[in-house]
Amino acid sequence: MPGPDFPEADSPTVVMKFGGTSVADADRLKRAARRIVEKREQGNRVVAVLSARGATTDELTEMAFEVSPDPDPREMDMLLSTGERISCALCAMAINDLGHRAISLTGSQAGIVTDTSHTKARIIDVRADRIKRALEEDRIVLVAGFQGVSTAADVTTLGRGGSDTTAVAVAAAVGAEMCEIYTDVPGVFSADPRIVPDARKLAIVSFEEMLEMAASGARVLQLRSVEYARNHGVRIHCRSSFEDGPGTVVLSESETMEQPLITAVTHSTAEARITLLGVPDRPGIAGRIFSALADAHVLVDMIVQNEPVSRDSQAEISFTVPRSDIRAARGVLDGLAGDMFAGVAEDPEMGVVSIVGAGMKSHPGVAAKVFAVLGEEGINIEMISTSPIKISCVIRGGEVERAVRSLHEAFDLGAGGVEREQPFGAPA
Ligand code: ADP
Ligand code: ASP
Ligand code: MG
Repeated sequence: MPGPDFPEADSPTVVMKFGGTSVADADRLKRAARRIVEKREQGNRVVAVLSARGATTDELTEMAFEVSPDPDPREMDMLLSTGERISCALCAMAINDLGHRAISLTGSQAGIVTDTSHTKARIIDVRADRIKRALEEDRIVLVAGFQGVSTAADVTTLGRGGSDTTAVAVAAAVGAEMCEIYTDVPGVFSADPRIVPDARKLAIVSFEEMLEMAASGARVLQLRSVEYARNHGVRIHCRSSFEDGPGTVVLSESETMEQPLITAVTHSTAEARITLLGVPDRPGIAGRIFSALADAHVLVDMIVQNEPVSRDSQAEISFTVPRSDIRAARGVLDGLAGDMFAGVAEDPEMGVVSIVGAGMKSHPGVAAKVFAVLGEEGINIEMISTSPIKISCVIRGGEVERAVRSLHEAFDLGAGGVEREQPFGAPA
């Protein structure tokens, strides 16, 4: 029997996503269940997307490598997708015990249709009829994050952090008012709060800035989830699953107020650099090499080509890839060596530090300051790339944390720094 809080036909729908730490043990899972129920009792229809518990995805990955040096990607997806199913089934049980009716769905049952690129599939459609039907029946719907079913009817996963993208895609498909991402920090900060204790929580961030932050290592939101939210006009509220209070709202540029010069320092320590030696200086070579890498789904980030110093010498091309892609890159390059370049050198311990800020567009001198700060710290910059609102430097992996702290301090981004809405140049 529906109680007085039974949602009306026009009640708003909210999507709530809980990350791995937020459902890591029985107490946390029950706490998530209570928050979901509270939201429902406030008169909302609720879809919750859950991640695998704690380090489950890492443990499953280790299991695969215990039995195979190069696990088959299709089978890897069958394996990895189980983690989020466990969370959802358990949470449904906990919600039922709180007197509500819940139903857990796998990605496939929830209608998440993806392409066929196993272990990093892209969502191409969400056929949300079953979710909508369950909501009509006054159920709380739990959707297993990070997974879908491919156009070839195989189980796929969406890449690390992919539950964020499931949540946003479901929010778009059911027309949710808001996609709430509950995580183990209170929002999006001016730097990873685990590295910079003084980092400041940002009340709002534009899609433009959040895209650059996610692309450069701020893993608090998966890059694709931000792309999806921008493309489908979904508002994200990233907040703590352990405490109440507002987190960070990600919204369109037109809705944000003043643009600060610099919003955040981001980093990644999971990069590898590959250098192709003895590349003949002929048109078409780079196109063929990078097409082959793209066909193998290797994510190439920064590319630098050193031109030959004389007419008969040869060029070198260096580029960075996520360390997890190095094996796939090696497979491709082994097949091309000899023909398109003489040899390959690898440096697996690289990192990237970046500064992001929409206000940078109209203020020269930011790059110079970044280089000067790193120089004073004695940190060697090995590669550089820029966008209108980001400057990234490839440095040694072991120097990344020091670089993040010194840039955060030099640009005065800490909790004691200028307010976000303060226009650049105005007195603090
Ligand atoms: P979840 O399991 O909830 O998806 P993640 O581990 O994927 O959580 O993302 C949250 C983590 O992101 C935080 O614990 C934090 O260490 C890290 N992080 C990195 N950069 C930032 C940032 N700029 N703001 C907030 N968190 C960040
Ligand atoms: N469980 C997956 C991971 O650890 C997906 C996610 O948590 O978003 O990457
Ligand atoms: Mg995550």
